[in-house]
Amino acid sequence: MRLSILAAILTLLPLCSSSQELLTAYEKSKGKKTFTYEEGIRFCERLDSLSDQISLFTYGMTDAGYPLHLLVFDADKDFHPQTPKEVLLINNAIHPGEPDGVEASLMLLRDIATQSTLQKKYENVRILVIPFYNIGGVLNRNSHSRVNQIGPQSYGFRGNAKNYDLNRDFIKADAQNTMAFYQIFHTWNPHVFVDTHVSNGADYQYTMTLISSQEEKYGTHCARLIKSFMLPALYGKMKQAGQEMTPYVNVFGTVPDSGINAFMETPRYSNGYTSLFDCISFVSETHMLKPFDKRVEATRLLLENLLELTLMFKPSVHIEKDRLARNEFHSHHLSYPIPYEWVNSEICDSLFFKGYEAGFKKSKVSGLPRLYYDRSKPYEKYIPYWDNFKVSRAGHSVQHYIVPHAYQKIIVNLAANGVKLDTIKKVDSMQVLVAKIDDFQTSATPYEGHYLHSNTKVKWVSEKIRVNPGDYLITPDARTENFLANVLQPEAPDSYFNWNYFDPILQQKEGFSSYVFEDIAAEILKDDPQLRVQLEKEKVEDPELKNSAYKQLEFVYRHSIYFEKSYRRYPVFVVPY
Ligand SMILES: [Zn+2]
Repeated sequence: MRLSILAAILTLLPLCSSSQELLTAYEKSKGKKTFTYEEGIRFCERLDSLSDQISLFTYGMTDAGYPLHLLVFDADKDFHPQTPKEVLLINNAIHPGEPDGVEASLMLLRDIATQSTLQKKYENVRILVIPFYNIGGVLNRNSHSRVNQIGPQSYGFRGNAKNYDLNRDFIKADAQNTMAFYQIFHTWNPHVFVDTHVSNGADYQYTMTLISSQEEKYGTHCARLIKSFMLPALYGKMKQAGQEMTPYVNVFGTVPDSGINAFMETPRYSNGYTSLFDCISFVSETHMLKPFDKRVEATRLLLENLLELTLMFKPSVHIEKDRLARNEFHSHHLSYPIPYEWVNSEICDSLFFKGYEAGFKKSKVSGLPRLYYDRSKPYEKYIPYWDNFKVSRAGHSVQHYIVPHAYQKIIVNLAANGVKLDTIKKVDSMQVLVAKIDDFQTSATPYEGHYLHSNTKVKWVSEKIRVNPGDYLITPDARTENFLANVLQPEAPDSYFNWNYFDPILQQKEGFSSYVFEDIAAEILKDDPQLRVQLEKEKVEDPELKNSAYKQLEFVYRHSIYFEKSYRRYPVFVVPY
């Protein structure tokens, strides 16, 4: 008996000594430091060589000139992405000043690599870890850019190598990092995704806060799984382990007492993007005012619980059911959901919240009242919570989209997202729906390298169009249709239209010389008494038009055959069922 125990100890020894050597920056510094890029990648390489169950891959290239690394754990040593298994993807350091997840997930993988009980426990889930997503930001190391955050001693910067916030880039894909992420995501097809962060904002008692993708975005099976099973179990398990968490504190007014809004993540955000493909998505947001070591502990606990719930609830089964249902939906030629609107203010829930009393006192800087939280006065009470979202289901039922050959950047993005593209072989004419851009607003200042449009409104009209060889015919399927609707329907908040990929259609290319057009316009109005009536009516309603000879000519021009058809005519067409 004793001998067998000794033998067991001896067989464990090499693993123990390897794991003792293999400490994270966090462990070596007793919770004070985080990995530099080089240290972290070296750690990943050692994990790869330590265990046959862990493999380190690289994908694409990032703006910083380094490839994106991906660590994969598979207990069966099977690294073929097609082998069916539940898959969880953990993304870290998209904001490198928020490195809690880097340490938590690498420690977790190290422990799995060195402990057979954990290998057994996680044998039915494949664990994917991107150790550093924003490599340019990780390399831009400093100790000051997170002014309100308690630790670590130094860390990376939020902007990437081109100063993009990568957590706004998942649709516009300006950064090479995003194209590399597409490769990882569509190669491994994770069922659960978590992006690790540290939050700013109000003070409260919790270390961990959570954004979960709105169930309104999913099919009925996944929606039920998230709302009725995964979220209650996740919150329950965290509480049981002494790490009670709360939904992300997106304060409605000045302080949490006035209520919080659930965070609406449109597809520009990592979890907004991954949820378009039915992936059950989360963002962990530890609280900046809790010390680094406490935040890392909480992040690790959340990751472990997500792994357990992935094993318990098998999200892949629910995703498959929703996709089957979506195919059924198609065969009945019904419309499908398009843009997700902002939080529905008409439905308010309440949330049990553990905060601190807030007050105002005189600022030593301005002499004006300033907000403060009094940690000696913790409270527990119900606060208003808006966590319902409006979903528009008024979209056209799309059999195909047609994207002209000219829009190659869009074609590249669609292909990178696993969209099947058929090239049109010969000139043809097709009856399609064309969106006329009726209205939109544009940000006055640059936002993530763009002058983003919003509140876009269109009118759909039926037209016969000519398609040309080299144009693309796209047929949405159960996997890609949400994504396609969100990027190709101009009204969707993160559509390619809103991200400026079609701006040339918003500018008129031809015009008229007033003195020449006067005579033509007079003829037009003579031949079209209805137009004359319309002009007179609008003059009554619009004094500016009444007092401007040019504007009246322009009115006639815009209503004449001379006005260019391409102006505000959205060039991606819909072939309806
Ligand atoms: Zn963040």
